[in-house]
Amino acid sequence: MFELQDQHKMIEQAVRQFCEKELIPQIEALDKEEILPYDLIRKMMDSLGLADMVRFSLEKRLEGKEEEDVVKLARQDILVLFIVIKELSRVSPGFAMSWGTSIGLCGQAIISKGTNEQIKEYGIPVMCFDKIGCWALTEPEAGSDAFGAMKSVAKPDGDYYILNGTKTFITNAPYADIMIVYAKIDRGQPKEEQPVHSFILERGMEGLSTGKPFDKMGMRDSPTGEIFMDDVKVPKSMLLGAERDNIRDTAKESLGDERSGLPAMALGIIEKCYEQSLKYARERVQFGRPIGEFQAVQLKLANMYIHLQNVWNIVYRTAWLSKEGKRDFAFTCATKAYCAQVALEVAMDAIMIHGGYGYMREYHLEKLARDAKLLEIGAGTTDINLLTVARLELQK
Ligand SMILES: Cc1cc2nc3c(=O)[nH]c(=O)nc-3n(C[C@H](O)[C@H](O)[C@H](O)COP(=O)(O)OP(=O)(O)OC[C@H]3O[C@@H](n4cnc5c(N)ncnc54)[C@H](O)[C@@H]3O)c2cc1C
Repeated sequence: MFELQDQHKMIEQAVRQFCEKELIPQIEALDKEEILPYDLIRKMMDSLGLADMVRFSLEKRLEGKEEEDVVKLARQDILVLFIVIKELSRVSPGFAMSWGTSIGLCGQAIISKGTNEQIKEYGIPVMCFDKIGCWALTEPEAGSDAFGAMKSVAKPDGDYYILNGTKTFITNAPYADIMIVYAKIDRGQPKEEQPVHSFILERGMEGLSTGKPFDKMGMRDSPTGEIFMDDVKVPKSMLLGAERDNIRDTAKESLGDERSGLPAMALGIIEKCYEQSLKYARERVQFGRPIGEFQAVQLKLANMYIHLQNVWNIVYRTAWLSKEGKRDFAFTCATKAYCAQVALEVAMDAIMIHGGYGYMREYHLEKLARDAKLLEIGAGTTDINLLTVARLELQK
C-alpha cells in the first residue's frame, strides 16, 4: 500500500517524459497567457493513451459488457490519477487543475450521476477531453456559504427549466463546452426549502454566456471566469440525476472528490521543491562551503522532507480509502487543509534556500509558490476545511 507498483512507475515515467518534452518548453507562454493549455492536454491524453482507454472503458460500460481487466484496474486504481496530477504539478499545478477539473469534476459528475444518454452525449467527450468541461458551484455572493447563499435558480416550465444566475471563479469557464451548474429549483417555496440540483449546460444555448478569463496571481495557465445565465431554457433531460428533495449530499461528494485530488497537487509541488533545494544546497558555495553544510539550511531541508513523507502517506491513504469504497470527510478536509499549508510553506522555503535566484522566474520556484497559494483557497478555504473537521469530530 505504501509503495508504487510497476504500472504506477510506468505512468510516472511516461508523464515525466511528456512534461520534459512538451510542457516545460511551453510553461513561460502558458504562464503569460499567450497560449491556452487545452491543445497540450489533448496531446497528453493521446500520447499516454488515456483518451482511448477512457473511451473504450466507458463505451463497454454503456453496452453493458464486461470491461477488460486492465481497464477495470486503471479505473479502480485512483493512484494512477494521483500520479498523473503529481507529475503535472511538479511543472504546472495550473495545468493539472484545468485537466483535473474537466475530467475529475465535470466528467466524473456526468459519469457517476448521468443517464446513459447523458454519458454518451456529454460524459464521454469530456472524459476523453474532446470537449472541455467545468464545474460551477461558486457565485459572487456565495463562496464558503455556497449552498445557503446560492442565488441561481431553475424554474420548472413544462419540459424545461428556466435558469437564471451568475457563477464566478469557475476553472475553465471561459472556454468550456460543457458546464455542470448548480441551481436551486424554485417551485414557489421559500428559498431555504428549495433543493439544490446540478444541470448540464452546453455552450451555445440561448442566454448562456461566459466572461473573459480573470487576471490572477497564480494558476495562470488555468483559465478562470464567470458564467452568466439569462433565462436559459434547459430541457429536463439535462438535469443531472433524478429530481429529489435535496442533493446537497451529492454536491458535497463532488467537493470531497475535489478536495481529495488536492494532496496529489501538493505532493508534486513539494517533491519538486525538495529535490531542487537539495541539489542547490549541495552545489551553492558561500563562505567557502556548500550552503547545505549550514544548519539553518539543513533544518529547512529536514522540514521539507517531513512534509514530503507526510503528504505521500496522505496520498496513499486517500487512494486506499477510494479503493475500499470508504468515505471519510473529516480526513479529506483535514488533509486538504494540511497539504495546502505545507505546499505553500515548502515552496517559500525553497525560494529562501535559493536566495535571490529563487526569486527569479528562471528557477521556476516562484511559479510553484504562486500556484500553491490557490490550494489554500480553492475547494473551500483552509479555515472552512478546518472548521468542518472540528464540527464533524465534535458531532461524533
Ligand atoms: C483560481 C480559482 C479557481 C476556482 N475554481 C472553482 C471551480 O472550478 N468551481 C467552483 O465552484 N469554484 C471555484 N473556485 C471558488 C473557490 O472554491 C472559492 O473561492 C472558495 O470556496 C472561497 O470562497 P470565496 O472566494 O467567496 O471566499 P469567502 O467565502 O468570501 O471567504 C472570505 C474569507 O472569509 C473566511 N470565512 C468565510 N466564512 C467563514 C466562516 N463561517 N468562518 C470563518 N471564516 C470564514 C474564509 O475562510 C476566507 O478567508 C475557484 C477559486 C479560484 C480562486
